Amino acid sequence: MTSITSMNIVYDKFFIGGEWIAPSSDKVIVSIDPSTELTNGQVPEALEADIDKAVAAARTAFDDPSTWSGCDPAERAKVMLRLADEIDARAAGFQERVSAQNGMPVAVAAQLEIGYPSAILRYYADLASKAEFSEIRPGMFGGEIEVRRQPIGVVAAIVPWNFPQALTMFKLAPALATGCTIVIKPSPETVLDAYLLAEAVEAAGVPAGVVNIAPGGREAGAHLVSHPLVNKVAFTGSTAAGQKIGEVCGRLLRPATLELGGKSAAIVLDDADLDLSKIGEGLFTSTLLNNGQTCFLGTRILAPKSRYEEVVDAFTAFAGSLQVGVASSPDTQIGPMATARQRERVESYISQGKNAGARITVGGSRPRDLDAGFFVEPTVFADVDNRAAIAQEEIFGPVLSVISYQDDEHAIQLANDSKFGLGGTVWTSDPERGAALARRVHTGTIGINRYIPDPAAPFGGVKNSGLGRELGPEGLASYQETQTIYL
Ligand code: NAD
Repeated sequence: MTSITSMNIVYDKFFIGGEWIAPSSDKVIVSIDPSTELTNGQVPEALEADIDKAVAAARTAFDDPSTWSGCDPAERAKVMLRLADEIDARAAGFQERVSAQNGMPVAVAAQLEIGYPSAILRYYADLASKAEFSEIRPGMFGGEIEVRRQPIGVVAAIVPWNFPQALTMFKLAPALATGCTIVIKPSPETVLDAYLLAEAVEAAGVPAGVVNIAPGGREAGAHLVSHPLVNKVAFTGSTAAGQKIGEVCGRLLRPATLELGGKSAAIVLDDADLDLSKIGEGLFTSTLLNNGQTCFLGTRILAPKSRYEEVVDAFTAFAGSLQVGVASSPDTQIGPMATARQRERVESYISQGKNAGARITVGGSRPRDLDAGFFVEPTVFADVDNRAAIAQEEIFGPVLSVISYQDDEHAIQLANDSKFGLGGTVWTSDPERGAALARRVHTGTIGINRYIPDPAAPFGGVKNSGLGRELGPEGLASYQETQTIYL
């Protein structure tokens, strides 16, 4: 079924209904390494007929309560723990495949694409074995009432390429915990890691049809979203696609979780310690992680007027110090953009920033010492107006804008002057002052001197950053439907 010759990974079947089945056509998705621009694998492309098979398998599995949906949650938890072990056993493969497809530096993949997804799975396995799936309440008018939290049904999970395994697990783990079945549609840019997940699902003995994986493009995704046998859509991706999916789900009255784009603020307070030896790691995770291709990054740096040049100098030194290189090198901090198209998009924003009169203090070009790959230097713009395109639109690359503010009130006003509201950070030597300010920023999540989504806490956005929350117990609830029985 597979052949591997120094990262040329070829699959010719889909994992659907617990089996490896032949595709409906000979169309393929070719994987390209963005560090080298060379092909490194190929898988079949799911078309509508393949999506139909995947949804049918998930539906059949869901509708037989003895398969998964009606099982004792503790039994489901055992299977989930086995799956977490099988995923961990393939950690090196996940790390290599993710980095070779989307350009994520292996050091970043080690932090977030291996270990982290299985931790989410274990967290939800634990919740599944402890959560109350039904309770009896006394009725106000006498008698008793049973309130059941049932699995919502067949889930359509649509995932982007930037953190393919983590973002799949944001959906898969709560779906499994509640008793749902799922069809996962990975992004065409990251398909090889999805097959490792399929192998782990098979090895863990997850019952047939509970997890089905069909990589495909937008058409396949759109077909899945509107499929009559699907009960819930869980989507992570761009705001534009999320809006289209939201429209379809609105018409169908189909529950949807939409995790979309962002343009978060990193608010540097006037008492912040700018010593990069202390804050460099936190700054990296919260502003430039994964080559700037992370939805929650604080790419609008709000700097107090009193310390503006100091903040610009600190970010210039920070961005300039980062090691740019091929994703497979353990020393690399900034790898390539995931695709040539993505690099064009980033470069077009850099041009717009220059044309709008912003000042580049570091970067702004392609690195001169790398002759292949979709690289862009980490770039800092100073003297940026918060209304400028580079301050308002999601660039999704290693580009930061430093914007000046007068006082804390002005910083809050600028932070909230955005159509997005996903992440953000406050940098201060007084965490209580930082938390008080953070509470006034209109965003789904925000960190004080650090930022990393924690499996135990809800993650998601407001405004154009999306609808609903993943992770935490809140993430579990969004895969359940409540049934009331008046006993
Ligand atoms: P994208 O929206 O183009 O694609 C995401 C996924 O949706 C892919 O699998 C794609 O095939 C599918 N898709 C696209 N249009 C669709 C449609 N109409 N119907 C059904 N499926 C469709 O986004 P991308 O370029 O792959 O990812 C980058 C974007 O994702 C960025 O905007 C980023 O901010 C966002 N993102 C958000 C989060 C979050 O949690 N909020 C996390 C990661 C990425």
